[in-house]
Amino acid sequence: MGSTGGAAKRVAIVGAGIVGLSTAWWLARRGVPSIVIDREDPLESASAGNAGLLSIGHYPLTKPGASWRGLRWMASRRSPLYIRPTLDPRVLSWLWTFHRHCNAAWSDRCLAALCRLGFPALDAFETILREESIECEYARDGWLDVAATRASLDHALAEARALEPFGYSIARIDGDSLRREHPVFRRGIAGAIHYRDSARCHPGRFLEGLLGAARRRGVEVRLGATVESVFPRVRLASGEQIGADAVVVAAGAWSSELVEPLGVRLPLVAARGYHLHYDSVPAMPGTGCVLRESSIAVTPMGSSLRLAGTLEIGSIGRPWLRERIEAIVDGASKALEGVERFGPAREWAGYRPCTPDGMPVIGEHRLERGASASSPRVFVATGHAMMGMTLGPISGRLISELVLGEPPSADLSMLATDRFGRRPVTA
Ligand SMILES: Cc1cc2nc3c(=O)[nH]c(=O)nc-3n(C[C@H](O)[C@H](O)[C@H](O)COP(=O)(O)OP(=O)(O)OC[C@H]3O[C@@H](n4cnc5c(N)ncnc54)[C@H](O)[C@@H]3O)c2cc1C
Repeated sequence: MGSTGGAAKRVAIVGAGIVGLSTAWWLARRGVPSIVIDREDPLESASAGNAGLLSIGHYPLTKPGASWRGLRWMASRRSPLYIRPTLDPRVLSWLWTFHRHCNAAWSDRCLAALCRLGFPALDAFETILREESIECEYARDGWLDVAATRASLDHALAEARALEPFGYSIARIDGDSLRREHPVFRRGIAGAIHYRDSARCHPGRFLEGLLGAARRRGVEVRLGATVESVFPRVRLASGEQIGADAVVVAAGAWSSELVEPLGVRLPLVAARGYHLHYDSVPAMPGTGCVLRESSIAVTPMGSSLRLAGTLEIGSIGRPWLRERIEAIVDGASKALEGVERFGPAREWAGYRPCTPDGMPVIGEHRLERGASASSPRVFVATGHAMMGMTLGPISGRLISELVLGEPPSADLSMLATDRFGRRPVTA
């Protein structure tokens, strides 16, 4: 059937992160066979190493003023958002487009769209959990936006209020109440905003469970294989061709190189983040938190604790910056008692795929030329930045609907694949 439309008979999915595996799972549930291909172990990907907060109604990266803050912080490798100094034209062009989107009007539009997607996103996540009985320390107890100062607590409250018209429940907690409930917080912390509807989990365990569930449902998972191109055939670096009448590019921060030859302009940068994972700690908060001043996520995962954060733009393949790991520990110490007594931690770094307008890319790319009856239809699902754990399962569901030729169950107009324009086709 190729590029002429209609439901696909076999789908090739590039990337076994949360987006790719969720897509395979929803397709399998609807009886559509697929093969998922990944060159790495997905349990090392961002989808396993993230902070595990299912923070629905999360603000996009393009908050007003974010680009100026990034520029100001360029001199400091310890800042929450660090842009590596570079002359790479791709990164410079991304920064310019990012800067143009960091304003209140755009941020409000994104937030409205993300709020509408929030409850269906949690529903998609919980459907997988329920149907597959995945054990991943899931708790639907919200998350805390923890503010060190009174002024930042007021600011946090104003931000949170914007979610209320969309049916979200938030609460302001003062410092004393916060410490009564979570004694690990230092005296002097001003308080927190509780986003009550969100959830948390151990992302690695979820991904492992999803991988197993997909396999049990008949999905073929091929690891250690690199996809070199997706059009006019899906071809591996080994030269092998994969037969499929639809292909889904869910290759995270590496997606651009696969779709740009088809004429998709996909300006993604990789924003590296780090985590420290402690198997046991003397004390921890009772729920997931983000420390507002340092943007560090603190997530209890059973008896273990993960500290995660920092956005480092433009860094694929470059050596880790030790200062950024140290900044996570420093930031946590300012808010939590006893961090110096936390045991040894496992350290990890991985890449978030970030678009310059702060929104994911989810949709079908309509080919202008070069498509024959045997060429696959091409779908793109990436660019989830700091929201991929939250939005991965719903993204997979939406792509499965498109592959099946059904109207998507959410409005995809702000997520379109062609919103950054087109490039010359070279495939
Ligand atoms: C420190 C940190 C904390 C985070 N915290 C949260 C959080 O609390 N909540 C939240 O919602 N999100 C969070 N995120 C974001 C989230 O982890 C990502 O948005 C999400 O994992 C992206 O998933 P993905 O499937 O698109 O990409 P990935 O997980 O990167 O998977 C893409 C896969 O594609 C494979 N691949 C790429 N190219 C090819 C190729 N050519 N051939 C074969 N395979 C290929 C890669 O090997 C990779 O395994 C965090 C991220 C980081 C780094």
